[in-house]
Amino acid sequence: VSQLMGIGTLMEFAGPVVREQYLPRLTSGEMLLALGITEPSGGSDPGAAATRAERDGDSFLLTGRKVFITNSHWAGLALVVARTSSDPRRGLSVFAVDTASPGFRTGRAEHKTGLKGCVTGELVLDQCRVPASHLLGEEGDGLAITIKAISEYGRMGNAGVALGLMQAVFEETQALAAAVGQLHQPLVREGLAAIYGETQAARLLTYQAAWLLDTGARADAEVATTKFFANDASLRCVRRAMAIAGSRGLVAGHPLERCFRDAIPLISADGTGDIQRIVAARSLVGRFS
Ligand SMILES: Cc1cc2nc3c(=O)[nH]c(=O)nc-3n(C[C@H](O)[C@H](O)[C@H](O)COP(=O)(O)OP(=O)(O)OC[C@H]3O[C@@H](n4cnc5c(N)ncnc54)[C@H](O)[C@@H]3O)c2cc1C
Repeated sequence: VSQLMGIGTLMEFAGPVVREQYLPRLTSGEMLLALGITEPSGGSDPGAAATRAERDGDSFLLTGRKVFITNSHWAGLALVVARTSSDPRRGLSVFAVDTASPGFRTGRAEHKTGLKGCVTGELVLDQCRVPASHLLGEEGDGLAITIKAISEYGRMGNAGVALGLMQAVFEETQALAAAVGQLHQPLVREGLAAIYGETQAARLLTYQAAWLLDTGARADAEVATTKFFANDASLRCVRRAMAIAGSRGLVAGHPLERCFRDAIPLISADGTGDIQRIVAARSLVGRFS
């Protein structure tokens, strides 16, 4: 999801120097990308970023700390949100930071509950020198770029992961019930039907929101609703699956145990459920009033 967010953002906002230098390696998968928004003070309000970027000739010097960043320790390029002025609306800018730059280092890597296939950790910038050509868009465009990246790529990607997880839960639960000779039980069949219903609802919401974005429409409510529904539904599906599987599903390494752990971090990644409901409500109230 981070790779998708970063590549989409670079294609839209990066200048020719950054595009030519990094996009081929990023799109081929040779290089990974990190997106540095969240700071120790919180991630829900990207406008509150305290990381500073000060102009120094043809460069900017970036100083600050980003936390809970996907691909932190593996990325060759990090898109970092930093404050270039105190203007409340246009005080932020986004920089493409080569992780080999002097003044850039990684901090702690978190041992999180699930999603263990990717590293999540800290980026530390200490007077990190970044060429002015690595500024995305114009100085002051940072908040708009960040919100676009999160809402159009991050939340949709997150919903897609939750949807895949639900599909896996359905298949694994059915296979397990068949293997232990319980597939004929009415309650097992009812549980499978409920998981299927949740999965299909999340699928249709995800496809509709993605289609709307593809048409160029503004789809804040649809994307936010899809994200929180898919996250909540995946937790409901996993809970039902665990009830059907009995103790077998709890054994470390069992696919259902992995789905159970993976469903949890998806809730706050790309913005919590509460923030999605706030975004959706704001857009819907405006639409129908
Ligand atoms: C697996 C994973 C991967 C991640 N990857 C990245 C990444 O690559 N890059 C990145 O920048 N971040 C990343 N994050 C961080 C993620 O974006 C944040 O966790 C998320 O934005 C929420 O921020 P927070 O955890 O700091 O909670 P906070 O912002 O501190 O919020 C705490 C609580 O307060 C609530 N809250 C906050 N503000 C309001 C409000 N105005 N109204 C009502 N309730 C509110 C929230 O809903 C939440 O319940 C990742 C997180 C996870 C779990």
